[in-house]
Parts: sequence; C-alpha cells; structure tokens
Amino acid sequence: MRDKQKKHNRIVLTSKEKSELLIEGIVTIILLILLNLAMYMLLIQIVQSSLSIESMISNISTSIYDTFYSPTSYAWKKPIFFLLGIIDLSILYWRLIRRYRQMQQRHIISELHYISNGHYDHRIPFDLNGDSGKLIRSINALVDSTVEAIEEERRIEQSKDELITNVSHDIRTPLTSIIGYLGLIEEKKYSSDEELLKYTHTAYMKARQMKVLVDDLFEYTKVRQSNTPLSIMTFDMQQLIGQVVVDFELEASKKNVTVDFEASPSSLMMEGDTEKLVRVFDNLLSNALKYGVNGKQIIIHSEKIGSEVVITVKNDGKEIPKQSLDLLFDRFYRVEESRSQQTGGTGLGLAIAQSIVTLHNGYIYATSENGWTSFVIHLPLKSTEL
Ligand code: ATP
Ligand code: MG
Repeated sequence: MRDKQKKHNRIVLTSKEKSELLIEGIVTIILLILLNLAMYMLLIQIVQSSLSIESMISNISTSIYDTFYSPTSYAWKKPIFFLLGIIDLSILYWRLIRRYRQMQQRHIISELHYISNGHYDHRIPFDLNGDSGKLIRSINALVDSTVEAIEEERRIEQSKDELITNVSHDIRTPLTSIIGYLGLIEEKKYSSDEELLKYTHTAYMKARQMKVLVDDLFEYTKVRQSNTPLSIMTFDMQQLIGQVVVDFELEASKKNVTVDFEASPSSLMMEGDTEKLVRVFDNLLSNALKYGVNGKQIIIHSEKIGSEVVITVKNDGKEIPKQSLDLLFDRFYRVEESRSQQTGGTGLGLAIAQSIVTLHNGYIYATSENGWTSFVIHLPLKSTEL
C-alpha cells in the first residue's frame, strides 16, 4: 500500500474506507429524507392549521402526491424545496468530507507510527491541501532534521573514535622506543658511556616528540570549539608577519631557501588574537620549509583587499597532488603515505591553523600548481567578536 501511495502522491483509500464512506452517505441521505418529511409536515401544519388528525394525515399525503405529481398546484413550495435541496446537499457534502478528513488523519497517524518504528528513511508520501498538507510537510521536515542530527551525531562519534585511534598510534610509536631504550639501560645492555648517552638521547627525543603531540592535541581541541575566547587586540599585521619571517630566516638559509615578504601597504592595523595568528604563520612557514622538496624560495604576500587582509604563503618545489588539497586541513592528514615522524610533525598544524582562522571569521585554502604551493588566508580587518 505504501508503494502505491508513493506513486499516486495522494491518499489511496482502502476498500473498507470506501464502504465506510458509502454507508455514511446512505445513512445521511436517509436521515435527511426523514428530516425533510418532518419539516414538510410542520410546514403544512402551519399553513393549514386547526385540522383533525385524520384530515391532517390525508392532507399531508395529498400534499406529497401533489408535490410530486401536480407541482403546479403548490407552486409556492418550489423555492422551499429548492432551498431544502441545497441544504441537504451541503449537509451530505459536509458529512462526507468530515469523514474523509478523519480517514486522512488516520493515514497520517499510521505513517507516523511507521516512521517512529525506525523507518527513518521513509517520508509521508502524499501531499494534501490546507492544514493537513502543512502538517505533513512539517512532519517530513522534522524527520529530515532529526535524521540529519542523528547522522551528525554519528559522524562526531566516528571522528572521535578516529581521533583516539590516531592519538594512540602516534603516542604508542615513540613510547615503544622510549620503553625499549630505557629497558636496555635498565638491563645494562650497553657497552660504553657513549652508547648509554645515545640511548638516553634517543629516549629524550622521543619523549619530546610525545610532548609536542600532546601539546598540539590540547591546542587543537581548544581551538576547535567555536566558543573559544580570543584575546582580541589591535596590531600591525605586517609587523607581526615580519617578525615570524625573521625568526625563520636562519633556518631557511641553512637549507639555502630564501624568504621574501611583500607587504602592501607596509603597515596594516587590524584586530585579532596575535598569539594564535603567530601559530598559524609559524606552521605555514615551517611547512613550506619542511615539505617544499627541492624548493628554493618562500614568498609571503600580505595585501589589504576591501575590508580584509589576504595573506599568501607560497613555496616552490614539489606540488601537492590535487586529491590531497582539500584533505590537508583534516587533523592527522599527511600527504606522505607513511606516517613516519622523520619527515614532519603530527599532522595537526593545518587543522589548528584552519580552526584559528575560522575563529577570526576568516577562511584558508590551499592551491598547488605551476611548481608553486600556496596557502591563502582571508581575514576580516575588524573582529566581529568585539
Ligand atoms: P605539524 O604541523 O602538526 O607539526 P604536519 O606539518 O605534518 O605536522 P600539517 O601542518 O597539518 O601537519 O600539514 C599536513 C600535511 O600537509 C603535511 O604532512 C604535508 O604532507 C602537507 N603539506 C603542508 N604544507 C605543505 C607544503 N607547503 N608543501 C607540500 N606539502 C605540504
Ligand atoms: Mg605543519
């Protein structure tokens, strides 16, 4: 029945309901005939008052006879019959439509039961006019939003599981090394002081790596929440980027990479959380340095366009594959197949950067073509948070 209804887009009555409607019609017609007769009798009584019972009954029967077989004799009754006819038809229509509406409601309720029994992919398939139609559309919209909420909940749950898996993996790897090296020391399985120092150094480096991960994770969960408070202040964006660039120059020159900063205008006052924004540029520059394989140049361009500042951090070298571009900002995503810690950090840097930019009501995206990989940030000059 449900499939049938889907095709028709209208309520299809069952044969039981059809016979119910038919019986309702017949009963109404019988009742109306009886009512009409009674009214007719009353009318005759009023017109020809003070008659005996016998003459009254004979009068009524003659009147009925006259009405149907000799209508001319009672021409004055015609409008009354016409009026009665209209009233009868209206009553009949009203009763049938009322019963039909009850049936529609029954169908809606049964559809609701069907959905509430776990069939969340089902929607009330028929469309009605008036209030019932509005009710159906509201129910369908409600089911839609409920299903969406359930799915969102499921996605969050799944992403939490993934987070735990990734974190456990990233913590377990250095932890295993630390335990391994400390175990060797504990069992005195080293041949010289140098070897002992090498073991402690490795364990120390691994412990630091774990600390970075835990710190990043803490930062990530903090900036992920949309209600994270920002300590907004007015600052010069060009000056801030300039400082970050200076901090990177030494590291870059060691790798024979030049860092150029183009600021337009040379001073640009805006509002934002400087500590968090520095974190964004730090990560973008260290990424450019780390992942710009065979790259020789990093260019930072910061320009005021309308009511926002557009900052581009780009580096030459190996491009990022197209399919990876959108995934870069997912936590723990790293382009390299192996999640080896040799080549980089935890894979949280860009996820944190994106969250920070979003907290500032801005957006960030990446492009990689013609030998250049660019990260573009749009930030409003005025913070709406203030
Ligand atoms: P973290 O920043 O947490 O120390 P990470 O640098 O690996 O770790 P992200 O900064 O989020 O993590 O970067 C994610 C991945 O994006 C990197 O692992 C790298 O594969 C790729 N990537 C980022 N920037 C560049 C770039 N400029 N050129 C090429 N690949 C890049
Ligand atoms: Mg990074």
